[in-house]
Amino acid sequence: MAEFTDQFTMTIDGQPASSPQTLKVVNPATGQVFAEVPDCTPEQLDVAMRGAQRAFAGWKDDYERRRAVMYACADALEANAEELGRLATMEQGMPLAGGVGGVLQAAGNFRYYADLDIPRITVQDDDDALVEIVRRPIGVIAAIKPWNVPIGMAVNTIAPAFRAGCTVVLKPSPFTPVVTVRMGEVLRDIVPAGVLNIVSGGNELGQWMTEHPVPRGVSFTGSIATGKKVNVAAAADLKRVLLELGGNDAAIVLDDADPVDVAEKLFWPAFRNSGQICMAVKRVFVPEAMEPQVVEALAAKARAVKVGNGLDEGTELGPINNKPQFERVKGLVAEAIAQGAVAVAGGHPMEGDGYFFEPTILTNVAEGTRIVDEEQFGPALPILTYRTVPEAVHRANATNYGLGASVWSADPLRAAAVAEQLEADTVWVNTHMQLTHDAPFTGMKWSGLGSEMGLWSIYAYTDPQTVFRTRSQVIKKGAEQAAGA
Ligand code: NAD
Repeated sequence: MAEFTDQFTMTIDGQPASSPQTLKVVNPATGQVFAEVPDCTPEQLDVAMRGAQRAFAGWKDDYERRRAVMYACADALEANAEELGRLATMEQGMPLAGGVGGVLQAAGNFRYYADLDIPRITVQDDDDALVEIVRRPIGVIAAIKPWNVPIGMAVNTIAPAFRAGCTVVLKPSPFTPVVTVRMGEVLRDIVPAGVLNIVSGGNELGQWMTEHPVPRGVSFTGSIATGKKVNVAAAADLKRVLLELGGNDAAIVLDDADPVDVAEKLFWPAFRNSGQICMAVKRVFVPEAMEPQVVEALAAKARAVKVGNGLDEGTELGPINNKPQFERVKGLVAEAIAQGAVAVAGGHPMEGDGYFFEPTILTNVAEGTRIVDEEQFGPALPILTYRTVPEAVHRANATNYGLGASVWSADPLRAAAVAEQLEADTVWVNTHMQLTHDAPFTGMKWSGLGSEMGLWSIYAYTDPQTVFRTRSQVIKKGAEQAAGA
């Protein structure tokens, strides 16, 4: 029985919108439908796009207004963090602290972008000319989001797009639409009509968005397979694309590292949110001689961790988010074991309702097994052995993924030298999954196109414009101003 039925409305051109059809949303901790959201029709999407297009005109030129709105968005998210966080946990599965924490982080993201200075760059200032580069917002952004961190991923687009001067039509994943749709309701009276449209629907809605003539940019976060389709659809209209896609991050442990300490620090970057994070550690390379100690230390952590309903106190890991993903992780682990891998911890689905899977550490596993070659996006970690560092680097790079990677060593300089050989857009030394606002987050190879965070998101939602003034005009204008004063 659904707990919330027909309560949630999309936000279209500032108005609440229901639909003739609804999408049922399952709580992955129970396997039961707990809410329904509207299933957006093509006509409703068109109203949203036209509204966003109309709103762009008044929005793009008024930074002070946008700044005030972004601050108000942050305040509203904070004021509603408990409710939104709870919904995030109910539909995504993550422990409640992560649900609420994600909303608070999103509020911080609004404030960060509200205050971000977008520099006006002078490239020539001499007797001939004054030449400056300014950034012009590209227009309506179609934003399409995944199910692993719903509010965080949504605000990762909304906040910089607002700062840039763009308006947004955003679609959450059909597996986790509730918290995003509810966020639209919370922000509805704060954001001017048309500036933020939240629509819910299935995969076809994402396709209609990328094919729609209004958006000038597509901000997509999700799988590589879908990212490629989005890129093709956007190309027909030369829309700008920002693609943040999947990863298969390697962690290389060097022979001078303390195995127990490394295992302690590697565990959470691999298993947080049940491994359902793009930049989670997804493959670990250890020297042959160190393997038993690293494996046993990781397995001890995996056996001890408390898995359960994210709403229950003390839960450290929730379920896998949805049935297809649960079946995929189950299949990848079973296939690896059938090929000779050993599950030193876990290896099986857990008893009871919901999509719970035991935190799993696999050893005796190597390339050629799908859980190594593909992104597992779940609570199962393969540990691979190597003999030489160049070999480990070569194997870590022998993939189409290129999101993140880390190197672990008692000697940070040695680790940094190895890290810089890795084909990943973020490399860490003795840590993993830590981000800073001002550094670009992006993916090499198939892990993405374009960069997010800081000014890099602003570049994604703006075009550079060169303002070229001959010197005589500059001098003349200056003289006019002086005369006027
Ligand atoms: P997905 O590609 O299945 O779905 C993502 C979104 O695309 C959903 O909203 C879906 O409805 C929509 N969609 C599906 N088909 C579409 C189409 N043809 N046209 C337009 N939209 C379409 O991804 P997912 O399973 O929801 O998310 C998991 C993936 O996301 C993982 O690979 C993960 O690594 C990746 N991810 C990457 C980042 C990053 O920043 N690089 C962040 C989070 C998640």
